[in-house]
Amino acid sequence: MKKVGIIRCQQTEDLCGGTTCFKVAETGKIAFQETGPVEVIGFVSCGGCPGKKAVPRAKMMMDRGAEVIAFASCIKNGNPIGFPCPHADTMIDVVKIRFGKDIQVLNHTH
Ligand code: SF4
Repeated sequence: MKKVGIIRCQQTEDLCGGTTCFKVAETGKIAFQETGPVEVIGFVSCGGCPGKKAVPRAKMMMDRGAEVIAFASCIKNGNPIGFPCPHADTMIDVVKIRFGKDIQVLNHTH
């Protein structure tokens, strides 16, 4: 079972407890069909706009064993209120460019 670190939108913390992210991760559904069921070893926010802290936070979770970094669907898809992050593509692309050769990166969870 692979280990995953999930990065979520800090602005969405008041709106969502991450329940569906945890469920799809442990059951290997939706975005986690690519990995199969995973163990969540970290669940952190992007650190707030404009999301630059997502990069060191991804590295921190890699250092703690994450083999997959998943960006929660609040970021790219705007769950649960239909309000995507305006910095989503930049944040995800930078993590892929910097760490994509060492880990798998998922741009959404469900
Ligand atoms: S940078 Fe994007 S993901 Fe992070 S808090 Fe701001 S809107 Fe949310």
